[in-house]
Amino acid sequence: MYKMALYGKGGIGKSTTTCNLAAALAARGFTVLQIGCDPKADSTRLHTGGASLPTVLDCMRDGDPGLGDIVLRAPNGVLCVEAGGPIPGQGCAGRGIIAAFDLLEKLHAYEEYRPDFVLYDVLGDVVCGGFAMPMRGRYADQVAVVTSGEMMSLYAASNIMRAVAGFQKRGYAQLLGLVANLRNVEDEEGKISRFCVEERTSVIATVPRSSLVQDAEDAGATVIELFPDSLTADVYRALADGVEGAAREYSKRGACGANGGA
Ligand code: ADP
Ligand code: MG
Repeated sequence: MYKMALYGKGGIGKSTTTCNLAAALAARGFTVLQIGCDPKADSTRLHTGGASLPTVLDCMRDGDPGLGDIVLRAPNGVLCVEAGGPIPGQGCAGRGIIAAFDLLEKLHAYEEYRPDFVLYDVLGDVVCGGFAMPMRGRYADQVAVVTSGEMMSLYAASNIMRAVAGFQKRGYAQLLGLVANLRNVEDEEGKISRFCVEERTSVIATVPRSSLVQDAEDAGATVIELFPDSLTADVYRALADGVEGAAREYSKRGACGANGGA
């Protein structure tokens, strides 16, 4: 089991990227668990034809949920969970993440489903304690940051990476690299590559801006399933290659070595 958290600024393309990555891995026969950690609770919509899932927090408010209430197996095989968030204006947004993680463990979700990949889709505008959960403890093995070349997106990426670096000292998740999700701003790849040099990281995959992404979104599906022969699908499969490679490398080195022996 390899666990990866995808962080990034709101609206930058985390859920789209995570869904397409999950679908590409599932198509290769892997068991993938995707956990939406955004209070918006729309992470897994491209697996469900656009339908919303009951969130873990909603299910907990309504009673005593079982695994079948909070984990949905989508038609493409991806196991979907949405942590959810508090009632607007009340409570902490990161609380859904903590509650979801606790409940999945209590209900032995990992033993039951035995996922090869766990993908956390996490909002990274504010890296408070709750939103940092997936990069702490034994949750994520590695973190990828989704960013465009826009200043605010790179600013959020930099904050997320600082949080990862802080936790890494304690032997928690390590940074895998960036997913460049292009917005077609001027000299975008140049801006991202200079950012990589400054921040000492690299790009795992570059996803071009593509109208197919939105066409697929309108149909509530991934590009992988709706336009499998497109160049955009090739890019998402290349990202899946990168993540598969990272998982192999990580398991070879072992969690301890991968965290610099911390
Ligand atoms: P986030 O999860 O980071 O908030 P989403 O994945 O929901 O962001 O993406 C926000 C919007 O951007 C969606 O409408 C999505 O279809 C669009 N989008 C994301 N990536 C691309 C892309 N590579 N090309 C075109 N549109 C994209
Ligand atoms: Mg999202």
